[in-house]
Amino acid sequence: MKKYINKIKNKRILSIVAHPDDLEFYAAGTIKLLSGNNSIHLIVATSGENGGKISKEKLKMIRRGEQRKSAKSLGIKKVSFLNFRDTNVLNDQYLRKVLVKEIIEFMPEIIITFDPANELEVHPDHRNLGQAIIDSLIKSAVRGWSVDVVLLFDTLKPNVFIDVSKVWEFVLISNKAHRTQFSEFAGGWKEKQRILEEKATILGKAIGVKYAEAFRRIELSSKLYLDQARESLKGSNSLSAPRPI
Ligand SMILES: [Zn+2]
Repeated sequence: MKKYINKIKNKRILSIVAHPDDLEFYAAGTIKLLSGNNSIHLIVATSGENGGKISKEKLKMIRRGEQRKSAKSLGIKKVSFLNFRDTNVLNDQYLRKVLVKEIIEFMPEIIITFDPANELEVHPDHRNLGQAIIDSLIKSAVRGWSVDVVLLFDTLKPNVFIDVSKVWEFVLISNKAHRTQFSEFAGGWKEKQRILEEKATILGKAIGVKYAEAFRRIELSSKLYLDQARESLKGSNSLSAPRPI
């Protein structure tokens, strides 16, 4: 919550997403809150060049421009594009090699990306990228940089809720910068805005605020083993209460 956000200061935060507009849809408010006190770098794996009525090359350039404009409104210091092909992000050795290189170069304490464990996420680029990032953490550590915390958005198992009510206008401004994407939603921008507001309202109710964003936080320390033990018990119900055998 707010307290958690306030504790994050003078950190290098790296967000890695699959397409322009991914970060804004799930985490724009949190990024805006963090950008005042931290250095944020955004890496976009593809340029979202598929699915437009114009040529891929042209759409790629437009979408990169939209991403830069949006990032500026959120206080993101730097945006880079990895030039992977849209809808073709695979968790393979090549992608992980690129991710390890980026992590070692930027040396982030915190990484923000997709939760690959969301079985309701229908876009394979999103799941594959999230898993590839998690799979790159050990190699990054071996090569000299250990990430402290991963914040996963687009998650079904949130354990951190961030009140973004005060920065809601920036959630709208940054999402609205991605003008090419409004046709995805039948009603254009109005429909996208409605979805953003309803989603944030549902999450906001969990902590008693107007609008919230949610993340699954993974701390990459010895605490991780205890978190996993607690998590493993959540699926148990009273009829099959764990007992020694
Ligand atoms: Zn996407």
